[in-house]
Amino acid sequence: MKKSSGKLLEVKNLHVSFQTHGGEVHAVRGVDFDIEQGETLAIVGESGCGKSVTSLAVMGLIPKPHGKIVAGSIQFKGTEITALSAKRMRRIQGSDLSMIFQDPMTALNPTLTIGSQLTEGIIYQKKLSRQAAHQKAIEMLQLVGLSNAEQRMKQYPHQFSGGMRQRIVIAMALICKPSLIIADEPTTALDVTIQAQILELFDQIQEETNVSMIMITHDLGVVAKTADRVAVMYAGKIVEMGNKRDIFYHAKHPYTQALLNAIVRLDLPSDTLKPIEGAPPDLFAPPQGCSFCDRCPFAMEVCRHVQPPTTAVDDHHTADCWLLDKRADAIRQKVEIY
Ligand code: SF4
Repeated sequence: MKKSSGKLLEVKNLHVSFQTHGGEVHAVRGVDFDIEQGETLAIVGESGCGKSVTSLAVMGLIPKPHGKIVAGSIQFKGTEITALSAKRMRRIQGSDLSMIFQDPMTALNPTLTIGSQLTEGIIYQKKLSRQAAHQKAIEMLQLVGLSNAEQRMKQYPHQFSGGMRQRIVIAMALICKPSLIIADEPTTALDVTIQAQILELFDQIQEETNVSMIMITHDLGVVAKTADRVAVMYAGKIVEMGNKRDIFYHAKHPYTQALLNAIVRLDLPSDTLKPIEGAPPDLFAPPQGCSFCDRCPFAMEVCRHVQPPTTAVDDHHTADCWLLDKRADAIRQKVEIY
């Protein structure tokens, strides 16, 4: 076991690949981030950028044998979890680390009552008696805003609306008092009103329990409502990371700027809305240089051949783009730097 630096979670140089009929897909390619207790980190990017695979790696849920953590380290509370046995990882999953998926129906068993699904985990993980677990489950249903909790315990998933089911899933994720919850697109399947209620609920729960959260989303509106810090992923890499303000008001990476230009803003005319042209690169054969090169209006020759270095914009804000490098002027004047 390596020494802890005091961070709740530290991910370093994470690489995850999948073997497919078409070859090896390099889904995550050198991801670094950390998270402190009580903090919410949003990981944002288009579909296929590697954000969900990163979260599955943290949860120890990369599907085997096709998926594999090829390199890197994931330390949770100072323990290297990539090296844990399946048995020890199962002890952490669902107790200290919890996950909320997009579709609540995938997390709920339609044949079991809500009560038995809520109590099952805590009886196994915390060795509570049935009666104590039952009481705890009722408290959790009340915490997530479900009325008549005692009666609700006897009902089945199909007897609840989509928003209520997602509240139950959140109660399940919270019941063992985890230190970290990973929420993967937790409101995407819900309509806008329910979505706003669930995001408010996350806020309230975090204030009451100080749980840390990783919010995986493609929706910058969700990021704006929930995040403290934001990691922008593109083609398996984090290309920009900063506080929410840095990302929304001082974005430095052309991809982050393009994402922001692609969202509807009520304070701007609709003709300022610009979809991002083109598609992300093929991760069977990732590009040698900057992955955003083919879609970037500022691309230079060096971008095609050499990966951009990570540049610190300030203490908490970094971006991987040649435009920020101190050699950028020389690059623009086509002076050979390599
Ligand atoms: Fe664009 Fe080059 Fe920056 Fe990549 S490194 S985002 S291609 S300017």
